[in-house]
Amino acid sequence: MTYQSKEMKAVERSLLGKTALVTGSTSGIGLGVAQALARAGANVVLNGLGEPRTIARIACEVARANGVDAIYSGADLSRPQEIETMMDEAIRRFGAVDILVNNAGIQHVAPVESFPVEKWDLILSINLSSAFHTARLALPAMRDKGWGRIVNIASAHGLVASPFKSAYVAAKHGVIGLTKTIALEAAQSGVTCNAICPGYVYTPLVEAQIEGQAKAHGVAREQVIRDVLLAQQPNKRFGTVEEIGAIALFLASDGAASITGAALAADGGWTAH
Ligand code: NAD
Repeated sequence: MTYQSKEMKAVERSLLGKTALVTGSTSGIGLGVAQALARAGANVVLNGLGEPRTIARIACEVARANGVDAIYSGADLSRPQEIETMMDEAIRRFGAVDILVNNAGIQHVAPVESFPVEKWDLILSINLSSAFHTARLALPAMRDKGWGRIVNIASAHGLVASPFKSAYVAAKHGVIGLTKTIALEAAQSGVTCNAICPGYVYTPLVEAQIEGQAKAHGVAREQVIRDVLLAQQPNKRFGTVEEIGAIALFLASDGAASITGAALAADGGWTAH
């Protein structure tokens, strides 16, 4: 093995011995982030909804492919009590959650005046309040260790709005406010807190929007992608879950120790407008 490849190997396993909890990691961006952190050696706590057999297979694959431990919590993040149970389980099993990635999120599209009230409450609870609960429960052990990373998956919609997404946009702006507040409170304890703000990334959440809009307007998928979803995204392509995983991995690294309270746009130039 050459000197260079030895060094690369060390960098690749930079999170050995650490534990990462990624909410909403049974699919899409969360799964991409969990895989990136596991590849770097972190044990992972997966969370999310879905079919139990599929989730068991995902957990097994993440663990086996990366030589780490992977456990799964089925906590429904709209329920604070279930979040407490998930955090207790993670801390009991691994001693601490060193890297917390708040990623779980849902979407609903409707004008403000007809936005279903229960959808508003659900989006606020899953997309925003759950990040408050996981962070408040993870912080004490992070402070004790003098090291911790909180990465919140916000959105370009945490920086700018689009019509018909009132709850989502409000929640994502809230996530950025929460990110900055935690960053200030934790700044002297070795714990950083940052938000990643992706533009459109191709995942099941986006597929549902393509399908929904194509049906609602009676137009082809390609037209929805070009004229609606990517209309604001100057690079005219979807981001990938691997790209978001790579940013989360960087924010979890020691090299990112001075980055805290940031909202990093990964949106192909959308919010540069
Ligand atoms: P996705 O639908 O593929 O995944 C969402 C995950 O959240 C799933 O694992 C799902 O099971 C989980 N989840 C949903 N409700 C839950 C609940 N009540 N309790 C626990 N888990 C729950 O979506 P995605 O596109 O990968 O989105 C992930 C995050 O990235 C979301 O916060 C989303 O707002 C954000 N985001 C996505 C995009 C995009 O274009 N895909 C862009 C910007 C931001």
